[in-house]
Amino acid sequence: MAFESLSDKLQNVFKKLRGKGVLTEKDLKEALREVKMALLEADVNFKVVKDFIARIQERAVGQEVLSSLTPGQQVIKIVHEEMIALMGSEEDSRIRYSDKPPTVIMLVGLQGAGKTTMAAKLAGMLKKQGKKPMLVACDVYRPAAVKQLQIVGEQVGVPVFEMGTDVSPVDIAKAGIKQAAKMECGLVILDTAGRLHIDEELMQELTDIREQTSPSEILLVVDAMTGQDAVNVSKSFDELLNITGVVLTKLDGDTRGGAALSIRAVTGKPIKFAGVGEKLADVEAFHPDRMASRVLG
Ligand code: GDP
Repeated sequence: MAFESLSDKLQNVFKKLRGKGVLTEKDLKEALREVKMALLEADVNFKVVKDFIARIQERAVGQEVLSSLTPGQQVIKIVHEEMIALMGSEEDSRIRYSDKPPTVIMLVGLQGAGKTTMAAKLAGMLKKQGKKPMLVACDVYRPAAVKQLQIVGEQVGVPVFEMGTDVSPVDIAKAGIKQAAKMECGLVILDTAGRLHIDEELMQELTDIREQTSPSEILLVVDAMTGQDAVNVSKSFDELLNITGVVLTKLDGDTRGGAALSIRAVTGKPIKFAGVGEKLADVEAFHPDRMASRVLG
């Protein structure tokens, strides 16, 4: 399961806290120091950890938690609440639909993050929810990318619009949206090109697509296993594109949790979905409360 090492460490701290009938300020400090270490070892952003610990400290001392009957339990509750807050609210994770269909969701991200797989996963999931999605292949740099989208699109039973690799991505996106309207598909998912690194040309292309298609959502796909790199990529993409949310992939292989716990606090943008395996059904809406429970046990 994801985050096992972080969970183990936090549960050890909690066990000690629960065992204490009386909790001194020194005990609290020591416990929070251990929580802090565990989060840093899990590759959570340093500033995020610092603020998180400060908030817990302030609440625990300020609310006379220490003199309560179950001080350890109270502190654990505060940690839990603050961890949920760190990852955002339930509402954040919903997709914004346009008043004028089709709703356009633009998926962006670096190569290998799992973007194309996620395009099909989202299409399949939203189809199950009664939507009529269409996938649009806007990655014209790799002929294999168009083919890959066609294959995964077929696997989830969603139409894939493509114009090969000789047409500009902006024109493909616009034509795809027109076609979706014609076919009464209420939802268009644009699979855009990825690169190994963020470069100006790519960002210009993505900005052009955004300007020409007015997407309701610009979702950045990042690989959870890359930890703080994922956080830095999120920050850069957000500064350049003003994304509306993040999709975390490969959460199934992430034993640390640094990306999941940092992205929202660093970018201010919510994590909306998570990829939890290689199969196309391995996708879920991201629920901060469930994630916090998974981490905290
Ligand atoms: P893209 O270059 O961003 O379009 O990435 P792909 O969609 O081609 O995915 C890259 C690799 O990551 C593929 O081998 C996928 O099977 C794998 N992958 C994608 N999402 C997940 C996930 O949630 N969990 C796991 N374990 N692997 C994933």
